[in-house]
Amino acid sequence: MNAHATRENFPVTSQNRLSQGQLNMLQTCPRKFQYTYLEHLSSPVTPDQREKMLWGSRFHLLMQQRELGLPVEVLLQADEQMRRCYTGLLEAAPDLFKPESPGNRQFRAAEHRRIMNFQGYLFTVIYDLIIADATRAQILDWKTYPLPKKDRTLEENWQTRLYPFVLAETSDYAPEDITMTYWFVQSAETGDDRLSKCESWTFHYNSIKHQETAQYLTHLLNQLNSWTEDYESRKPFPQVALTEGVCDSCPFLTRCQRGPDSGFRVNEGDRITAFSDIEEVEL
Ligand code: SF4
Repeated sequence: MNAHATRENFPVTSQNRLSQGQLNMLQTCPRKFQYTYLEHLSSPVTPDQREKMLWGSRFHLLMQQRELGLPVEVLLQADEQMRRCYTGLLEAAPDLFKPESPGNRQFRAAEHRRIMNFQGYLFTVIYDLIIADATRAQILDWKTYPLPKKDRTLEENWQTRLYPFVLAETSDYAPEDITMTYWFVQSAETGDDRLSKCESWTFHYNSIKHQETAQYLTHLLNQLNSWTEDYESRKPFPQVALTEGVCDSCPFLTRCQRGPDSGFRVNEGDRITAFSDIEEVEL
């Protein structure tokens, strides 16, 4: 394994850029990363998935237009669910949307993009909304599905790790000054009282977490370099252990010969509980 990850070690030009989604996949299963990003294999998106993605995009556009001071009524008129979620968010988090007070100068930006060069890789993050003043910076992210049941799942997701990390690395804010909050706007749809059901989850960043993320990231990039070198010698990226229980929902089940007919099945009792219990989080 290389001591240091460098851009030269990773020969596929487009892959010099890494996103939080790619880090998540690399950590979950390196072989899946190989199929998806090196060999550009993908599974078809179902109509239901496509509709959810489009709705999510429209909601983000709505929030961006609002932040820019552009009219949003035309977007709301066409979609009653969108109106309910939008109203629920504004009423659940009034402090986020109140006008700036004269004594508290703020920097606010929707779809704010930052780029970080870390050990030869470029990481791009896009904050749905950032609100910063002289003492603190809040990163806000809109999620168009309900709040996952397990906080741990969110905390370990690479979006939660990477977004504050990039801000601390590319600004004057100390890690302790940074928070990241997810707003789950469709949680507003699930209860009788929609306005009280829009839920949030906040990650309070600090120097210890910052150091841990630097170590995790360095380790993962070093592994990526090593696996990439092996791949050039025709050795595939490693597969996730069967006991992790993630293969059953993977589109590459047959390619990996881990389908029902392969003989490679994991007994329920053999699973590692801590991982098999973790729900998939669409971040
Ligand atoms: S089937 Fe399992 S080993 Fe193969 S790519 Fe998917 S998660 Fe990885």
